[in-house]
Amino acid sequence: MLAQIGPAVFTPPAGGWYTPLMRFAPVPDYHMHTPRCNHATGSVADYAEAALRIGLAEIGMSDHSPMPGGFDAAWRMDRAELAGYLAEVEAARDAFAGRLTVRIGLEADSHPGSEAYVRDMIEAYPWDYVIGSVHYLGDWGFDNPDNLDAWNGRDVEQAYCDYYAAVADSAATGMFDIIGHPDLIKKFGHRPPPGSVRVQAAELAMLDAVRDAGVALEISSAGLRKPVGEVYPHGRMLALAAELGIPFAFGSDAHAPGEVGHAMDTCLGMLTACGIDAVCRFEKRRRFAVPIRALP
Ligand code: ZN
Ligand code: FE
Ligand code: FE
Ligand code: ZN
Repeated sequence: MLAQIGPAVFTPPAGGWYTPLMRFAPVPDYHMHTPRCNHATGSVADYAEAALRIGLAEIGMSDHSPMPGGFDAAWRMDRAELAGYLAEVEAARDAFAGRLTVRIGLEADSHPGSEAYVRDMIEAYPWDYVIGSVHYLGDWGFDNPDNLDAWNGRDVEQAYCDYYAAVADSAATGMFDIIGHPDLIKKFGHRPPPGSVRVQAAELAMLDAVRDAGVALEISSAGLRKPVGEVYPHGRMLALAAELGIPFAFGSDAHAPGEVGHAMDTCLGMLTACGIDAVCRFEKRRRFAVPIRALP
């Protein structure tokens, strides 16, 4: 089975994450942010330049979308910033055309009560793809370091079950193209009882919902930069998803240009170990397969 991934590394090496030791040709990196979400740095052009430096041919921006009613406004762009976000990504797409393909995406939150607002926002623009992410259980932003105390005394097994149920619901909405970091609940290293039958059943139900909805799962290197020190999703979930024929898209979830493409090679190695030989790319919400190519 897949090896445990090593400790978190937070500082990119000079020259970026991509080195001549890589085993696979680069694939699109579809998950990166801009300062509009208030917790990322760098312009879209900075991310694009970083992608070119490490040899990528395609990236996609996917900043945290606005939410209705000012929900958790500190961690996302304001609705008034959406036009500027689109203008900046469109300008980079045009400026880098011929050298780097820049896709226009969004990381939308799946949160009960906001579906109509998010659906309207998605329908109002010709996105290349929309990532659907679960960052909240009720009003609890469980992956927000400011809310870490709220984990104290929490039934972790129940939190995992609730999380996977919410991810299953996000897939079933049919609103999203990619389900973001599909076991984000582990971010700070909280673990349910080993071998929990309830959690395994919840994971499987989530994967069934993803397959039934015909959407892609994200394989994300961001977990390697977090206390859990693991790729999202864990290897067993990856293997189950592969058995179900669920397609994958890669995302670094870069919040700084130096994180673009982070650990792409590790993620591609995990995919190929499960027999997956392609990842997804998107254009105007149509999905295409990009073969994973081993380097000589
Ligand atoms: Zn973020
Ligand atoms: Fe996210
Ligand atoms: Fe993100
Ligand atoms: Zn994210």
